[in-house]
Amino acid sequence: MGSKKEKVVGILAVQGDFAMHAAMLDRIGVPWKLVKHVEDFAGIDALILPGGETTTMLKFLTERKIADAIKGFANENKPVFGTCAGAILMAKEVLNPEQERLGLMDISVERNAYGRQMDSSVQQAECPEVSDELIEMVFIRAPIIRRVGEGVKVLGRSQGLPVLVEQGKLLAATFHPELTADETIHRYFLEKTKDC
Ligand code: GLN
Repeated sequence: MGSKKEKVVGILAVQGDFAMHAAMLDRIGVPWKLVKHVEDFAGIDALILPGGETTTMLKFLTERKIADAIKGFANENKPVFGTCAGAILMAKEVLNPEQERLGLMDISVERNAYGRQMDSSVQQAECPEVSDELIEMVFIRAPIIRRVGEGVKVLGRSQGLPVLVEQGKLLAATFHPELTADETIHRYFLEKTKDC
C-alpha cells in the first residue's frame, strides 16, 4: 500500500538457477527470500520464477501445493517475473509437449523450440522500452513465445521473435538475465514493486 517498508522479493527455489537470481538481487541491494514451501509466501512482495526444468518444478509445485499459492499471489496483482522455465510456467498454453502450467499470462510457448543446433546461444537484442542499450541475452534450451494475447506487450525481440513480454505486473523472459552482469531487466521488474 505504498508503504516505505523495503520490499522483499521471493525466489522460487524448488529446482533450477534460483541462486543466480539471489546473487543478482544482492548486487542490486534488494532483500530476497527463497520460496520452497507455501509458508514462505508470508512477507514477500514480488516473486521470481527461475530457469531450470519445468517438468521437475511442476512435480514440486503440485506436491507442495505451491502452484495454487503462486496463482493466488498473482491474482492479488503482485509482481511475478519468470525467466525461461519460469516463463513456461507462467504461460496459458504450453506446447511441445502440452503440459501443466500456471496460466498466469496470455501467451503460448513452445518448449525447447530452438532445436539442437541452437540449443544454447548468446544474442544481443533491443528492448527499446527498457533500455537504450542492446541487452545481452543468454538462451539455454529456451522456449519460443508463439502467441501473444491482446493484453500482452512485447518489450523485446530477438531474431524477430518475442523474448521479453509483459502483462501488467507480470514479466516473462525466454532468456536468462540473471546469468549476465547486466542488471537492467531485474531493475525493470523491481519497478513493479514500487506501488504495491
Ligand atoms: N527446457 C527447459 C524446460 O522446458 C527450460 C530451460 C531453461 O530454463 N533454461 O523446462
